[in-house]
Amino acid sequence: MKVVVIGAGVTGVTLAWELCQRGHDVTVIEALSESGLETSRANAAQRSYGAVYPWASPALMTLALRTLFSKRGAFKLALPPSPETIAFLLRTLKNAVTPGRFDANREAMLRLAEDSRLRFLELQDQLGEALVFDGEHEGVLELASTHQERERLGGDTAMLTRLGIEHELLDAEGVRRYEPALANDAPLAGGLRLSTDGTGDCHQFTQSLAAAAAAAGVTFRYNQAVTELGVENNRVTSVLLDSNERLSTDAVALCAGFASRVLARSVGLAAPIYPVKGYSMTLPLIDAQHGPRSTVLDDRYKVVCTRLGDRVRVSGFVELAGLDRHLPPARFEVLQQALHSRFPGATAGQVEQAWAGFRPMTPDGPPLLGASPDGRLPNLFFNTGHGTFGWTLSAGSAQWVARLMDGDALPDYVKGFQVGR
Ligand SMILES: Cc1cc2nc3c(=O)[nH]c(=O)nc-3n(C[C@H](O)[C@H](O)[C@H](O)COP(=O)(O)OP(=O)(O)OC[C@H]3O[C@@H](n4cnc5c(N)ncnc54)[C@H](O)[C@@H]3O)c2cc1C
Repeated sequence: MKVVVIGAGVTGVTLAWELCQRGHDVTVIEALSESGLETSRANAAQRSYGAVYPWASPALMTLALRTLFSKRGAFKLALPPSPETIAFLLRTLKNAVTPGRFDANREAMLRLAEDSRLRFLELQDQLGEALVFDGEHEGVLELASTHQERERLGGDTAMLTRLGIEHELLDAEGVRRYEPALANDAPLAGGLRLSTDGTGDCHQFTQSLAAAAAAAGVTFRYNQAVTELGVENNRVTSVLLDSNERLSTDAVALCAGFASRVLARSVGLAAPIYPVKGYSMTLPLIDAQHGPRSTVLDDRYKVVCTRLGDRVRVSGFVELAGLDRHLPPARFEVLQQALHSRFPGATAGQVEQAWAGFRPMTPDGPPLLGASPDGRLPNLFFNTGHGTFGWTLSAGSAQWVARLMDGDALPDYVKGFQVGR
């Protein structure tokens, strides 16, 4: 089957790989000059399979109210909020307060994450050194700076136990065994370690997988944007490029990150995805003894510090500001402070890359996977809206969507990601 994949971020490239392995004739259309240049560019670098949480949660609401007006606060809202932002927030709130929804979505995301972990390991086995991601499988550590936070983390583990996800609730001494460089003068009561999780540079992974896919026969067309989906008899039969070229196709997969919404809307479908801005800063590690060994989530600043080979990346903030690409220095000051407070001496402050990206967020949190709803355009497939966890969830999502495109039955839990839910 001839398939057009729209978007060469981590979700589009992993899907293109799966489809070509299944014998399809795949063309990836990418508006930018290379793969992985948009949100997959410089994220927090965690493959946090055991620490995936739906966006719409009671905790987000508390965080928003507590930190909205503080400089250090993780939640930011551009004022006055646009009608689109207000609509997204109201839908988020509705999902957050609907009884049972957070737990159901978390469970579905954890199952998808576990499938992603296993698929990632298979990809690594299959591709060997051709798959580059500058990361490890050394676990993810969620820090608790207070006893209350440690108790909260402990309360979160029942679902992990039930799903057989390896984890360890640690006291401060236990945390330091895994991350010995953590500063002694910063508050630490313990933490939760997800031992099978890992790290990695999503951009390098995406680029190296794209190179492998190209070598396996996938066509990549860069610097070309899809401007229209051509529909005939309730099927997408072509895509129109900004060069006015029209490519005929048997199926289309929408993997356009936060831009998926606009393309879906153009054919009358709703893909409610909002660009939730976040920031990262990557710095050369000057002394490995003083840096993180793996990836550490700091509950005080709500930032993530991740070791990437001889670099450290620190990342944070959820900002609702539409598609504002501005890089306010104040955000990076907070990231620097947060890194320094936990890992003093790891870096000299020299910044290799300061970046902002837009998480393609659905109002509940789980991605949109599968066919379009109600039998409308049955050959249009979605692999998008992965929000905070697109790097983590990419391998499993691609695997299931590729199988669905081949008409295979999927496990029940994947229904939690239905488009139009
Ligand atoms: C600050 C921050 C930290 C994060 N940390 C993590 C983390 O630690 N772990 C994790 O799992 N996830 C993390 N994420 C989320 C993760 O980065 C995203 O979920 C993921 O990169 C989304 O990938 P994507 O392929 O869907 O989108 P993108 O990477 O944005 O790719 C979409 C592509 O589609 C292209 N495109 C759009 N429209 C068109 C068109 N019309 N025609 C052709 N091409 C088009 C775009 O140019 C783009 O290249 C983080 C995100 C941010 C912002």
